[in-house]
Amino acid sequence: MALYIEDSCINCDMCDPECPNEAITLGEHIYEIDTDKCTECVGHYDKPTCVSVCPIDCVKPDPNHVESEDALLAKFIKMHVA
Ligand code: SF4
Ligand code: SF4
Repeated sequence: MALYIEDSCINCDMCDPECPNEAITLGEHIYEIDTDKCTECVGHYDKPTCVSVCPIDCVKPDPNHVESEDALLAKFIKMHVA
């Protein structure tokens, strides 16, 4: 599933440059994740790198965008291989 950033985000800019899919951008108030681009880092890393670098643990799984491992891998292939 794609991840989302909670309102508690402090705009520290740690996650944005780490995302391999360029899925994180600064929105109107806080950083936001493009669900079409977020693969939970499948194809790149063992676990979501934005979660690893966030100092306040405000990046969470988005229950509205649940996706299987296969679906996430398909997104990775579409963006980076196909
Ligand atoms: S989980 Fe990975 S692909 Fe998704 S927003 Fe975070 S760094 Fe980007
Ligand atoms: S690392 Fe966390 S606090 Fe910093 S910009 Fe990203 S989501 Fe916000």
